[in-house]
Amino acid sequence: MRIRGAWLLLMVALAGCVGGPKGKPSRPTHRPPPAAKADDPRELKQCLVDLGKYGATYTQLPDRWFGNGCSATGAVQLNAIGIPVTNLGAMKCRTAERLSAWTNEAVQTAAMAWLDSRVVKIESFGTYNCRPRNGVAGAKLSEHGRANAVDIAAFQLANGRRITVEKGWNDSDPNVRNFLRAVHKAACRRFAVVIGPAGDAAHYNHLHFDMGGDGPYCR
Ligand SMILES: [Zn+2]
Repeated sequence: MRIRGAWLLLMVALAGCVGGPKGKPSRPTHRPPPAAKADDPRELKQCLVDLGKYGATYTQLPDRWFGNGCSATGAVQLNAIGIPVTNLGAMKCRTAERLSAWTNEAVQTAAMAWLDSRVVKIESFGTYNCRPRNGVAGAKLSEHGRANAVDIAAFQLANGRRITVEKGWNDSDPNVRNFLRAVHKAACRRFAVVIGPAGDAAHYNHLHFDMGGDGPYCR
């Protein structure tokens, strides 16, 4: 039951990745391609312990390879990290663990400091997605293609307010601007790569976080 549940979650999580090179669905496989770099099993074990420290509940997902360099290995499906985060699919453990740390340590503190309310829900644009960077054909594979990234779009507050990155980044209310800059800055201390609206035009409506090898990068 547990395994079947995990499979179902994985298929839901990966539903966005159906486009092979010529529109053909890329069929996932359990067998790593020859060039695949294996995850360090000790790091994964430690990461799962760390994830538990934030009270996160999760399902470990089977390693999958999708062609076009895309994969989801050492990944989990987060079920809960204190508050709901929408649209989360497969994430490599360390990215999931950093997201849990950021949510529990930084987001609530910033929300209370600037907006006098707790965050009750975070809206994401998702995690795994087999595509090149910024969706530009021919560009390097996005960390989303390795289940190693998450895009944060909005925050719902206990007082009923909803703060979106798109409208809030340059909001007329300085408290909203300060809140978003505070959570952005806090993410830079926790993730390898953080790109927000100040980074480039492609990130006008979300904060991108990943644990790829290009960091540290904070824009
Ligand atoms: Zn992203």
